Amino acid sequence: MTNQTAVNGGNGAKPHFVLVPFLEQGHIIPMVDMAHVLAGRGAHVSFLTTRLNALRIKLIIERAEESRLPIEFVALCFPCAEVGLPEGTENADALPSYDHLDTFLRACAMLREPLTSHLRRHHLPPSCVISDAFYTWTGDMARELGVPRLVFNGYGCFTLLARYILHRENVYEQGIDESQMLDLPGFPHRLQISKAQVPGNFMGPRLQRFRCEVMEEESRADGVVVNTFDDIEAPYVESYQKAMGKRVWTIGPLLRLCGGDATHMAARGNKAAIDGNECIRWLDSMKPSSVIYVSFGSLVSSTLQQIIEIGMGLETWGRPFIWVIRPGKQAAEVERWLSEEFEEMVRSRGLVIRGWAPQMVILSHPAVGGFVTHCGWNSILEGMSAGLPMVTWPNFGDQFLNQKLVVQVLRIGVAVGAENSDVLVKREEVEKAVSELMGGGEEGEARRKRSRELKDSAKRAAERGGSSHDNIGMLIQQIQGSSIDGCAM
Ligand code: UDP
Repeated sequence: MTNQTAVNGGNGAKPHFVLVPFLEQGHIIPMVDMAHVLAGRGAHVSFLTTRLNALRIKLIIERAEESRLPIEFVALCFPCAEVGLPEGTENADALPSYDHLDTFLRACAMLREPLTSHLRRHHLPPSCVISDAFYTWTGDMARELGVPRLVFNGYGCFTLLARYILHRENVYEQGIDESQMLDLPGFPHRLQISKAQVPGNFMGPRLQRFRCEVMEEESRADGVVVNTFDDIEAPYVESYQKAMGKRVWTIGPLLRLCGGDATHMAARGNKAAIDGNECIRWLDSMKPSSVIYVSFGSLVSSTLQQIIEIGMGLETWGRPFIWVIRPGKQAAEVERWLSEEFEEMVRSRGLVIRGWAPQMVILSHPAVGGFVTHCGWNSILEGMSAGLPMVTWPNFGDQFLNQKLVVQVLRIGVAVGAENSDVLVKREEVEKAVSELMGGGEEGEARRKRSRELKDSAKRAAERGGSSHDNIGMLIQQIQGSSIDGCAM
């Protein structure tokens, strides 16, 4: 699996980036793209994975090898047994719940020793570690190797800045009522959020210490790498950079920069539950911009009750849709309702995908005109890159903040109105939000126009001379010259 392309070591020679993603699809996918961007621009990349995670992106690995891209996928053995996790729990999406996150993170931290010894034996000394914020141990690892560490969070700068301020203001430790609205002092404009919507709320008090460690290690890092682009987040990038006192590299949207074709886009996550060509054939039979795509990402699985409300909302709306349903605890009941009642009602205009969908393939198709999203940052960038307006339906983590950026700042979204993840959104509300998004008169047209403009600016950021394209070049140059020195980056 390791690609032993001959490269030169030493200062000024080919830089060697070590990418260490958190083992979860929403974090792995952008890092896979990042690996392709860096390797495509002449860097050597070592990409940490594990045996089962490597199987999920087998096609990506094979293609990188065939095209002689200098990306080595370092597939380590994941220590499930050592921490008491069931065998095969190598990705956070396999955890029964996020209550087991700390155990999973302990297992991830045990990868430090085998990864370090792999890097020490490498014929090309590492030049830089880019690692997930969750992996505080990578700070020590980078210091041990004598190379800079850049943090990657998977969030945009709007959310990173808000998260920074919330931490600085001690919001997590205060016993504030979950529904009380909090102000964010020092944010570029007035921003309010309830405690229930604060990122990291899912971690609960048990992981409070871990959260502080993450923030502390982040403050020791040599820079931050963000999958975003300046056109959409300039004021937040600037304020966040100032607050952190270190360089914030905006290098997104990575999916645009990596220039991956349809096969790359379809293969960078899991194996899809539906053949990409079947999806395309179905979409080909629909009118341009007529279909809404509904997906809640790689982690959220809705209750049966919520699924029925979504389905009936789509049924009432009466137009074409693709709906991705991730099997959850009530999978059997959901399946019975889908196959015995729902699918018959929407046969000519609804495609239900159970499991993993080739999301980018779908979003890029001209028949798709809107996206109902849980507001995961990757999904937002993907929707934006496809020029689509969005119905926003956040659940946890960074998603409520991302919604504010999409709806209030960029004005390309319609909020479904879920104020926290426990709220049951009724079919009438689903239908109302979808109708408004896909129709919506003048305001709907203006929203679609803004969405198309954002697609163009995402494209420009990724092209030669664009902000993110230039930032990648500067980042590689600086690492190559090893001139990392705190704020100097
Ligand atoms: N994704 C996909 N098919 C699915 C579900 C998710 O391709 O059925 C991809 C999606 O395109 C995105 C990532 O998985 O790249 C999910 O990341 P995001 O930040 O949107 O949300 P998360 O899953 O981390 O909550």
